Amino acid sequence: MENPDQRFQQLRAHIADAEQRYSRTPGSVHLLAVSKTHSAEKIRALINAGQLYIGESYLQEALPKISQLADLTSVRGVQWHFIGPIQSNKTKDIAENFSWVHTVDRDKIAQRLNNQRPENMPVLNVCLQVNIDGEPSKSGITIPELPELAKNVMSLPRLKLRGLMTIPARSQNFEKQRLPFKQLRLAFEELNKNGMGLDTLSMGMSNDMEAAIAEGATIIRIGTALFGTRPPIT
Ligand SMILES: *Cc1c(COP(=O)(O)O)cnc(C)c1O
Repeated sequence: MENPDQRFQQLRAHIADAEQRYSRTPGSVHLLAVSKTHSAEKIRALINAGQLYIGESYLQEALPKISQLADLTSVRGVQWHFIGPIQSNKTKDIAENFSWVHTVDRDKIAQRLNNQRPENMPVLNVCLQVNIDGEPSKSGITIPELPELAKNVMSLPRLKLRGLMTIPARSQNFEKQRLPFKQLRLAFEELNKNGMGLDTLSMGMSNDMEAAIAEGATIIRIGTALFGTRPPIT
């Protein structure tokens, strides 16, 4: 069994190889370590090994870990990314504790995050979540809805619109995995043609990171390939 540090080094090497394979600029694919269900001590070890972007999906679980790691966070410049569904009564805690939010999919949430982002913190980086397969059970807006939400978010002074995020339906087939990522990239390019200046495509997880890198991902969100299989949520 590999240890976590070996997995981290292997993953970094894998990302560098994939960048080269798909003619991506070296260093243009950023690793977001998704640490849900994993302890603050495991995250601390990873930060000490050099990882700076940490992603969490559940606020109740994330807040204690963020405070347990506050000592390291401020010294190293660690960034906490919120990647879970957002309920409106949770926006204040998100606005006060995270550098990034990947899952904004409605105006009301964007406005609340903007109003609740403390003045003494940098602006909150935001990605809009796109429901790329149109599965009714999933969060996210459709591609036709993007321009309007993007425009509204751009007008909010305490938020910085960085790009788009998606979680496609699971597939084991490489070409099938690429399709939704390509659709997201085309939507992103379309917004940029209209002067939005976006720089982030948050797409790809352990199972489909290769396809996401091939299609232009700038942040891949990786849990299992980094920490091993998650314990079941009880
Ligand atoms: C859990 C999670 C991930 C990481 O998934 P793995 O398959 O473990 O790499 C990525 N993105 C989101 C939004 C998640 O909830």
